[in-house]
Amino acid sequence: MFCYQCEQTAKGTGCTRGGVCGKDPQTAASQDVLLHVTKGISMYAHRARQLGASDHDIDVFVLEALFSTVTNVDFDPQRLRAMIDRAVELRAKAKALYEDACAKTGKTPEELSGPATWTPAEDVGGLLAQAAEIGVESRRARLGEDIAGLQELVTYGLKGVAAYADHAQILGQENDEVYAFFHDALDFLTKDDPSIDELLGMALKVGEVNLQVMGLLDAANTGAYGDPVPTQVRIEPVRGKAIVVSGHDLKDLEELLKQTEGKGINVYTHGEMLPAHGYPGLKKYPHLAGNYGGAWQDQQKEFDAFPGAILMTTNCIQKPRDGYRDRIFTSGLVAWPGVRHIPDRDFTPVIEAALAAEGFTEDGPDRHITVGFGHSAVLGVADKVIEAVKSGAIRHFFLVGGCDGAKPGRNYCSQLAQAVPDDCIILTLACGKYRFNKLDFGDIGGIPRLLDIGQCNDAYSAIQIAMALAQAFATDVNSLPLSLILSWYEQKAVCILLSLLHLGIRNIRLGPSLPAFVTPQVLNVLVEKFSIMPITTPEDDLKAILG
Ligand code: SF4
Ligand code: SF4
Repeated sequence: MFCYQCEQTAKGTGCTRGGVCGKDPQTAASQDVLLHVTKGISMYAHRARQLGASDHDIDVFVLEALFSTVTNVDFDPQRLRAMIDRAVELRAKAKALYEDACAKTGKTPEELSGPATWTPAEDVGGLLAQAAEIGVESRRARLGEDIAGLQELVTYGLKGVAAYADHAQILGQENDEVYAFFHDALDFLTKDDPSIDELLGMALKVGEVNLQVMGLLDAANTGAYGDPVPTQVRIEPVRGKAIVVSGHDLKDLEELLKQTEGKGINVYTHGEMLPAHGYPGLKKYPHLAGNYGGAWQDQQKEFDAFPGAILMTTNCIQKPRDGYRDRIFTSGLVAWPGVRHIPDRDFTPVIEAALAAEGFTEDGPDRHITVGFGHSAVLGVADKVIEAVKSGAIRHFFLVGGCDGAKPGRNYCSQLAQAVPDDCIILTLACGKYRFNKLDFGDIGGIPRLLDIGQCNDAYSAIQIAMALAQAFATDVNSLPLSLILSWYEQKAVCILLSLLHLGIRNIRLGPSLPAFVTPQVLNVLVEKFSIMPITTPEDDLKAILG
């Protein structure tokens, strides 16, 4: 196997014998094969759409297939096998759709090859051999490191966008242009002779479409649950039976809250579910009791100690320990071999497991943090913020956030946040916030110094806030007293970075290490065009930013 799609990739170059994440070679091969057949679907779907024909099952499946290959989502070769078989069926459907559209419009269908006609092996040995033929390493050997690396940049960006588009469509927000772009971009990735400029152009287009998709997801979340409002969240347990919900899928959380009403079970958020507490449509449930634990990489220890049931919605899952294997459940696209999966939002088995477990035997201390500073809440006090900047009470804004991870060096974020001077505001989002979100940062004239904007996709909110401030000061985002420090781990962070680059935002600091798929030549281009830079030390970066 070869995989270098996330930040924790082995030796900073690539996982080859097994994934640092726990992905085994069979799972890795299954994901490579699924991606390849999905490109084949898109080759037909792209051409069919150009002739006015599309199919909703195909559109949604392409999102799900890409999302299933994101880091820490699907570790189950059996589930992936079923998806490969479905992909082959849908490729035939897409081919028929294209040929039918050609017949109706008097065109001669193109004879497609490559992923359009390729047949996945039935057995594990065959899949492993095929993955080696179609995988990154063979393309690196054939096309060179730069081209293959840029193809992967586009691919990983698409995977991240697919995750957001899938969440949005679950809540009823879809856009035909977005589906068309997925097919167009995956078709583009089947070309063997793209130039560096074409690939960079496509990467920025991924960023552009991601902005649109994060907007769709924002509309989906706020449409379903209202605009987030600043909300105090308990971070210690309360006595009683308990379920903890992790991942990003708010619909799963809502359904679980409905199904646990009146059952004497407290529901806790974990990881990226924390922002759920800010949504009026979710915080109204009195048994949404608080937040438990921290970011995804601490889950094994935290779930082991949790005296109730655990529901893992979309990423990031780690190998469950024996201590909680019989009380952890997955939903959506998440899968781990042997872990019970809830395919239909009937959470009865989760509730039964929670009732059978001991629950918390006593209340923890009274400790709270505040969440819910989405664009609506922050822009609601924009006058106050602008006045504070004009008067000099606020000197600078730092956006410190992104994905967290297990590698050493990630304490950079907590050190930086604590070293930020008292006259500066810290905006944060995604699970990287757990490095510092339980510290007291105080306020500036009533404006909290730490503003938790939400999940990683709420980067959309951060962008709206930055653009509104730029408008208020009659300038552009690059001229604002704002610095972006992003920690990245997996492919959603890649698409967010591409969105920021598409917007022309410069001087982004990226860490804890740069992506292995970005070659020195490509990095030079990014530095030249966008002044992107790696993080150094909190002290040196603060000095460089504030002078
Ligand atoms: S997802 Fe990351 S850790 Fe897992 S195999 Fe790929 S590069 Fe390695
Ligand atoms: S923000 Fe990224 S690393 Fe964190 S839980 Fe979400 S997908 Fe995983």
